Formats: sequence, structure tokens, C-alpha cells
Amino acid sequence: MSPAHIRLHLHGAARAVTGSCFRLVTPHGALLVDCGLFQGPKTEKELNYRPFPFDPAQIRAVVLTHAHIDHSGLLPKLVRDGFRGRIHATPATIDLAGVMLPDSAYIQAIEVTQLNRRKARWHDEPVEPIYDGGDVDRTLALMTAQPTGGWFPVLPGVRARLWNAGHMLGSASVELEIDRTGEPGGADPLRLCFSGDVGPSAKLLHPPPEGPEGLDYVICESTYGGTDRPATDDDARRAALVAEVRAAIHPEGALLIPSFAVERAQELIADLMRAMDEGALPRIPVHVDSPLATRASEVYHRHARALSMGRDFREYLASHRLHFTQSAEQSAALDRVQGFHIVIAASGMCEAGRIRHRLRRWLPVPQATVLMTGFQAQGTLGRILLDGATSVRIQGEAHAVRARIRALDLYSGHADGPELLEWIAGRQPIRAGLILTHGEPEAMDALALAVRARWPELAVDGPGLDCALDLTPQGAQLVGDCPPPRIAPDAVARLDWHNDAAKLILDLHEALDQAADDRSRGVLLRGLDRALKDWRERHA
Ligand SMILES: [Zn+2]
Repeated sequence: MSPAHIRLHLHGAARAVTGSCFRLVTPHGALLVDCGLFQGPKTEKELNYRPFPFDPAQIRAVVLTHAHIDHSGLLPKLVRDGFRGRIHATPATIDLAGVMLPDSAYIQAIEVTQLNRRKARWHDEPVEPIYDGGDVDRTLALMTAQPTGGWFPVLPGVRARLWNAGHMLGSASVELEIDRTGEPGGADPLRLCFSGDVGPSAKLLHPPPEGPEGLDYVICESTYGGTDRPATDDDARRAALVAEVRAAIHPEGALLIPSFAVERAQELIADLMRAMDEGALPRIPVHVDSPLATRASEVYHRHARALSMGRDFREYLASHRLHFTQSAEQSAALDRVQGFHIVIAASGMCEAGRIRHRLRRWLPVPQATVLMTGFQAQGTLGRILLDGATSVRIQGEAHAVRARIRALDLYSGHADGPELLEWIAGRQPIRAGLILTHGEPEAMDALALAVRARWPELAVDGPGLDCALDLTPQGAQLVGDCPPPRIAPDAVARLDWHNDAAKLILDLHEALDQAADDRSRGVLLRGLDRALKDWRERHA
């Protein structure tokens, strides 16, 4: 590579949506934009435990777009493995990372304990957590606050500017200017913009996304690139929520809202409190049953001035109708609350967190309602409930589902296809190329098609995991001699055999629950046992 070359490596969120990590190798040194945890199927999640495909000690700086764990969650591993530079982010992102990264370390500690218990049964080597609380503390100490709108130096010869991305509190797009003469102060720098995650045009709490114009390259997310959602606004969304709450009101029931602890929980708080203030809803106690949502709400309170409804939001948080449970005892006591009430609890897909305790209490109760307000991935308990399961297993116990299961799909942190096109339009002219990331192949291809139809001259790329592009002023060139990707391209963002296995086990439990008696359970188990023995004999 000649000194003036600038090379972009895609080490995550490449034809997939998690593990965002983009490495830029410049004549002035290497930097990362984001360093996120892989959260997809297990084949992808295993990458979290493997070494980085580069030497972290050679990375001189990181620019972080926002605090979501799929963008920030491997920073403590980067630090553990030798990174010592600065991590630039907005002040709100730093404060949110201060509650989200310790939570991530805590969840990993629990997961690793469970995994090692299973491994011990098979006499397998135990695994270590990816990082611990100490690594998180060292990571947070490297974070450097950069407000949006002002230039700051990242490396000598590389400067950056952050723009509101409208996706969550603190979220930013990153504009970069890289001197390509190899000498500080050189004229005619290469100008890039990484979108980060882009919010929709009408997002509660945040103004619409902004960004620079006139760039050489734009690196743009495409999560919902193939989706065209019906237009909505704050009033329509709140009215739909009000209708769901009204339909759920029953003196012997409760409304459970599984929610992401950061941003979605605060959006729900804002809409519920405002609807009660305006008289659209009666006064209903709302319990936020998630330690992370509680800590995140404190960060929102601190940064309320950055919100589009800041002063109102502070008042909502102080409302006597809003209760935050702290200890496990306070949380358990919620099961004994009399009269209709609302519980907002994590996790959003019912895979972990306190929502699972509340579901055990309320799923068998016909007067109760469960309202999903976010995307439910295949194989999650949230999806299983939405698909109409009549019984589910939580922590090994079967629970009948008699509660009403509802979904409200109007809250989104992401721009849809037409909104992404508008965001790209605002960055024009884009001289050398558009690089699509952070989308599953169908979504990415749909956005690429729409972009080509609107700007036939614009070169569009969507490289796979661990690919690299040379960013020349004339256009991006795929680098031929990169090391092979850490996982096969067709295994990225696909449901793998782990999902099939999990589904089979769920189906087996359901069949056992529904069997008429122990005799027919015995028949089922002996049949499966025979199939397993046959298979073993054939493969011995
Ligand atoms: Zn995000």
C-alpha cells in the first residue's frame, strides 16, 4: 500500500446487523469507527470470544457512534487486548456507555457461568468471560467527550466532526477528513461520513438526523433498507398506544410491556405520562422494573436539554405515578400489586431480565395483556408468544398463556428505506462511492437498488465480513489479498443449527406438556431415543 492509500476494513455489520467495527488504515495510523459485540446467531456470537483480526495495540484511536452494545460492546475487549488510544464520543454516549458496558459485563458473567456448567457436564474446557468490570472501567477512562458540530483531531492528519443521527440519546454520524498527502496540513483531504445508526424522520425525544454534504465516500447503514413503513408522527403513535392501554384496562389485570431498557423505555415513559397529563388516559401507576432502564433514565434526565421535549421529560420522570423498582425484593413485590397497573421491564424480546418474572405471574391470567413494542427475533420468547403459543417454558417451568398478546409496531429507532434514501440525498454530492453496511443481504440489496435507480452514476458497494476496500478518489477497489473472513459469508446473519436445536427442544417440551398421560409421553420419548440410537449406529 503506498503511503497515500486509505484502506477500509469491515470487521462487523457487513451484510449483517451486529458487531459494527470499521477499521481505517491511513498514512497517519489506524483508527476504528465503533467496536461492537456480535449479537446474532451463535455462529456469529462466537466471534466475540476469538481474537480481533488485527492487533488492537496498533489502533491509535476510536470514534464511537453511539452506546448500543452492537456498536460499543467489544471496546473493553479492545482495551484488554492492548488498545491505549482515545475513544471519542458525544457526552451523552459516554454517560450511557457508563451504564450499558457494566451491564454487558454483568450479563456475560452470568452467561459464562451457565455455559461452563454445561461444559463441565461434557468435560469440555471452561471459557472465560470476554471481559470483566475492570476492563470496562479502563475503557470508560479512555472516553473523550466531543460535542456535535465541532471538529476535533483524531490523529495528526485526521480530524472528525459528529452530527446528530436521531437514533437514540447521544447517537451520532461521524464525518472524517483524512489528509492523503501523508503530511500534516496537506490540501484536498479525503472526506468520509459514517452514518452510524440513523433515526427515522419523526422520532420521539430527538430531532431528525443531520449530516455533512459533499463527500468522497458515505458508509451507510441499511437495517430497514427494504422496508417502507406507513408514515407516522408523535400524535398518531401516542394515540395508538393509548388505544392499546385502554383496551388492556381491567381491575384484575395488568399491562406488561417488554422493552429495551435504553431509549424505548424512556419513549414509553414519555408517551404514557403525557397521555395521562392530557387526560387521554386515566391515572395509572407505571412501574419501571429494570435496573438498567432506571440508570439509563437518570442519564436521560441529566441530558434532558438535548431532547426535543427536555423540560416536559424531566417532569414526567418526577411524576408520582412513575415508580422505579430497585432491589430484587421490590421487583418481586410487584407481583402482589392490586388493581390495574403497567409494568415496563427488560428485555425487549423477553429473553432475559425481570420481564420473565412478571410474565410467569401474568401469562396465565386472562385479564392481563402483554404488549410488544419492538422487533421480536426468530426463536425468542417474545416471538413465540406473538406467534400464538398456548404454553411456554420460562426457567424450565411450563406456563399456560391466557393473557392477551398484542404488538404495537410504531416505535422505531431506525429510518426505513425511503428515509435512508433521504438521508443519502442530504449527503450529496457523493463523489467516489456509497458503501452499505449494517443490514441483512435482502435489506441491503433493496436499498442498493433504490439508490441506483435514483443516482445511476453513484457506485454502490456492500462488501462482506472482513473484506477491505481501497478508498481512492476515483472509486473503491476491493482488496484481493485479504485474509479469509473469520466465518463463511453464507453463515452470517443466518439462523444456524443452534436455532433449530432450540426449537426442537421447545417443541419436545410442548408435546410432553400436551400429551394425554405418562404412557403416551413414554411412547414419544422411546421413539426419539430409537431415532437417536439409529443415527449413532449409522455414524459410528
Ligand atoms: Zn443502534
